[in-house]
Amino acid sequence: MILRDERARLLGFNSHAEYALRWLMAKNSETVVAFVDDLQPRFERLAEKELKGLLEQKTAHLASRNESFDGNFYVWDWDFYNRLMMEQKYDLDQSQLSEYFELWHSMDKILEIFSGMLGLEFAKLEPTDYRKLSPDGLITWHEEVVVYGVWDTEVAGLDDDGFLGFLMLDMFPRDGKYPWMANWVLEDPYERPGGKKSRSKPTTALVCNIGPSITGKPTLMTQRDLYGAFHELGHAMNMLVGKNKYARFSPYWTETDFIEAPALMLENWMWNETVLKSVGKHYKTGEPIPDDMLQRFVPTRNLNQALNNLLDIGNVRFDMLIHNQKTHDDIVKLRDMAAPYNRLVFDSTGMKGPDVYDPEHYNK
Ligand SMILES: [Zn+2]
Repeated sequence: MILRDERARLLGFNSHAEYALRWLMAKNSETVVAFVDDLQPRFERLAEKELKGLLEQKTAHLASRNESFDGNFYVWDWDFYNRLMMEQKYDLDQSQLSEYFELWHSMDKILEIFSGMLGLEFAKLEPTDYRKLSPDGLITWHEEVVVYGVWDTEVAGLDDDGFLGFLMLDMFPRDGKYPWMANWVLEDPYERPGGKKSRSKPTTALVCNIGPSITGKPTLMTQRDLYGAFHELGHAMNMLVGKNKYARFSPYWTETDFIEAPALMLENWMWNETVLKSVGKHYKTGEPIPDDMLQRFVPTRNLNQALNNLLDIGNVRFDMLIHNQKTHDDIVKLRDMAAPYNRLVFDSTGMKGPDVYDPEHYNK
């Protein structure tokens, strides 16, 4: 933090926040602070109710196990009681839901949705096709990677003129692989010298870690996997349909935070009942997802989301605190980071931290 602040001031900025925000849509720290100040009160009343619900869930859970309870709801209780609430209040067992989302069936169906909406055609390439693209037949970095050629069906059918580029899917975890979900661009769309006809072949890769499958079952997608697939494919589609002249202005090189906008819009599909029904079928029986399960699942989108947003707001305020001090000396003097962090999280969400849980050790 001290070095970041020093660098920003050497470059003529008032703080690291001002330096970093220059490249983002907000542009300056005033916009960020005004944004969260405006947002916070809108969530507070609902968040209070949510926290009360979570506290009741925790009270009942600990009582059922005859465990003692200090009456507090801590930040680290959040994930656990959120899940318990989903299981008990919404009667939704995530592992049962997953049985309707076998990986490759679901991915095909998700691509069908993008295909219909954007007028694209996805054709899976076979390893024999790889030789046409590369003399040694090596076009991927691992044998598990699946490659699709992508065509714009509205331009010129499936001939060369309609060819857009390649989509690669690297879906399984393995040693040494990036452990989250992401979409990466291997080649940007742009026009080579010679104009539109010599456009590059943008290539984009979905890197996921789905599974491993439980013995006897195919690879099934969890709710988080589905969300990730819709989101990351949103990035991939944005890239594949880019019509920019210069690589510098390809969809990947928009403002860093704006790049999320198309993916966020496209991930909305995963909360649509009709879409979910078309994407899922039971891996064993082939049955569609029962309506009552869907009706219980879709409302979980908003479960405890006011609190979740306030937690983000607390993090934003902390970010501003440590990166946006008036003078360099103020940053140097900010020695104890934990206390203001705990206070900001508590102030925004009402959830308590280690300073309350174990004050003796914590406030030393
Ligand atoms: Zn994203």
